[in-house]
Amino acid sequence: MEINLSKLSFLSDPFIGLSLISLLSVIFFILYTMSKIQTISALKSKINYLNKTIQDLDEQAKLIIKGDMELKLYQQEIEDKLNKLTLIKNLIISSIHILDREKLFLQINERVVNDLGFKKSIILDFGDLEPKTNVGFATLEVEKIKNIFKYKKDLLKGLQLLSSDSDLYKQISAELGGAQLLCSPIRAKGHIYAIFIVSDLIMPISMRRSDQEAFSIIGMYLSQCLENIGLFEDLYHNRDDLERRIKERTNELVKSLREIETISKAKSAFISSVSHELRTPLTSVKGFSSLLVEEKFGKLPDQAKERLIKIDENVNKLMDIVNTLLDISRIESGRMEIKIAPFDIVKLISDVADFLAPQVESNGLQLNLDAPKAVNVFIDKNLIERVLINLINNAIKFTSSGGKITVKVMLQNHKTLISISDTGCGIKSDDMDKIFQEFFRVESTSTQVKGSGLGLSLVKRIIDTHKEKIWVESEPGKGSTFYFTLRPVEK
Ligand code: ADP
Repeated sequence: MEINLSKLSFLSDPFIGLSLISLLSVIFFILYTMSKIQTISALKSKINYLNKTIQDLDEQAKLIIKGDMELKLYQQEIEDKLNKLTLIKNLIISSIHILDREKLFLQINERVVNDLGFKKSIILDFGDLEPKTNVGFATLEVEKIKNIFKYKKDLLKGLQLLSSDSDLYKQISAELGGAQLLCSPIRAKGHIYAIFIVSDLIMPISMRRSDQEAFSIIGMYLSQCLENIGLFEDLYHNRDDLERRIKERTNELVKSLREIETISKAKSAFISSVSHELRTPLTSVKGFSSLLVEEKFGKLPDQAKERLIKIDENVNKLMDIVNTLLDISRIESGRMEIKIAPFDIVKLISDVADFLAPQVESNGLQLNLDAPKAVNVFIDKNLIERVLINLINNAIKFTSSGGKITVKVMLQNHKTLISISDTGCGIKSDDMDKIFQEFFRVESTSTQVKGSGLGLSLVKRIIDTHKEKIWVESEPGKGSTFYFTLRPVEK
């Protein structure tokens, strides 16, 4: 393109040139300003963004501080609860064994009250409102509290913890100069026993839940302790009562025993004197009946002789009974002379077996001895001989033909044990503890087998005087075993 310079000649006009320059300057300025405005607005939005970020950070910092404070408070609360639990644990340890109400209340001392977070505490008797313990309350304050409860203590009935909204609370607090306090009744056996108050928080902050909880637990614990003390007292009184009754019964028994002893002595004395009285005429009757039976006074008619033989047999039995009764009463009264000396019991049994052999044979029985060669024991030989004769004799009497009698000698528990077994009729368990009584005879056998019911009674007394034991084991229809112990001579 070709520019016609002649047409641009106006540029050579100084006015137009200046105007053009000014215009260009303005345009340049506008453009510059616009670019600056853009930069400023970009900076502004950055500043806004930064401001917002700072605000957010501030918010977060506040939240962190708040969280931290809450955590600290929570930590403090946990520490506080832990301290109170330790306090309760220590209180329980120090008072669990206390069985005296006054001593129990003394456990609520200054240290316990302070650990609980309070300066003052009082426990009032619910009846006369007298203080059982007082930590920090001035006499005047005590009087004020007493005066309030004088007319209003019944308001505590049914309550566990006095509410801070109640009029009673407000009145007590007002009387104590607006102090924060906790108050609860202490119950025992379903009745209010005392009023428990703590007041004046050590830390000047409002009451915490943990304060109330710890106070309530201590109140309930004191109630439980009172229950336990009550139960213990009941038990103690019952024991006292039981002991008194046992003493009474023992005294009665001792009295009865003495009476029985007196009666028994009288009975022995009676039996002894009757037996004595009977023995002399019996000896004379025996003498005559023997002479008559032997026909020393001349020949007798057969019928008379037959009767006389019966009379002689019965006189023998009577003499036997009288002699046994005399022996029993002599042993009972301690008049019988007992000579304890070492003796071979196996030899004694063999001698008795030889002596009774004719009877064993005539009854169609078999008698065996199962014993070592010799066993020395401490005995009164004559008396133990009578024991053996009686027991083996009974075994013979109560065992039918073809039966077996076994006598054994054993060592058991440092004692010599003698047993006499038979395969006879046996004894019912009901009768077993009666057979050692005087004149007792088992009904079913008494008619078939002759006897006095005195043999075992004498046997038992002889064993008793040796300070040993005798007992029986038996099964009806199968047989009986009589056992007795003797003191062996140590080798
Ligand atoms: P007794 O033999 O003279 O009747 P005991 O005092 O010796 O008197 O015995 C009392 C009772 O005990 C006997 O009547 C008899 O009923 C019972 N008894 C004793 N020994 C035996 C025995 N070995 N077997 C069965 N019963 C016996």
